[in-house]
Amino acid sequence: MRWFINFMAGRRGADQLSFALIIVFFVLSVLFMFLPTELFFIRIVAYIPLGISVYRMFSKDIFKRQIENDKFMFWWRDISTKINKKINRVKDNKTHKFIKCPKCRQLLRLPRGRGKIRIVCPKCSNTFERKT
Ligand SMILES: [Zn+2]
Repeated sequence: MRWFINFMAGRRGADQLSFALIIVFFVLSVLFMFLPTELFFIRIVAYIPLGISVYRMFSKDIFKRQIENDKFMFWWRDISTKINKKINRVKDNKTHKFIKCPKCRQLLRLPRGRGKIRIVCPKCSNTFERKT
């Protein structure tokens, strides 16, 4: 075990991007199982993200790997926020109505079944009436 500790000294090991690349490898491997056998060479493509992941784990350029991981996490946070917003909107659809402010196009979430109400946009302070 000592040799492995010495070997990993100065290397980054696994991070979020490395795990994501391994997941991409597994997804591609499963998808490529459905390919006809004549196209077996395409299966090699699945090993590219795995190879990159292994290279990243054992790379000694920690600073570069950190920047790559930060870029990935920034992108991933953006994507996951958008997905969560969509999921929450579908969940709230029964109890809330979503409308856009006619002036600034800001998306507003209003409770359903309150009749005609006056709405003040929190972004531009535009006042308008709408049935909910
Ligand atoms: Zn507005």
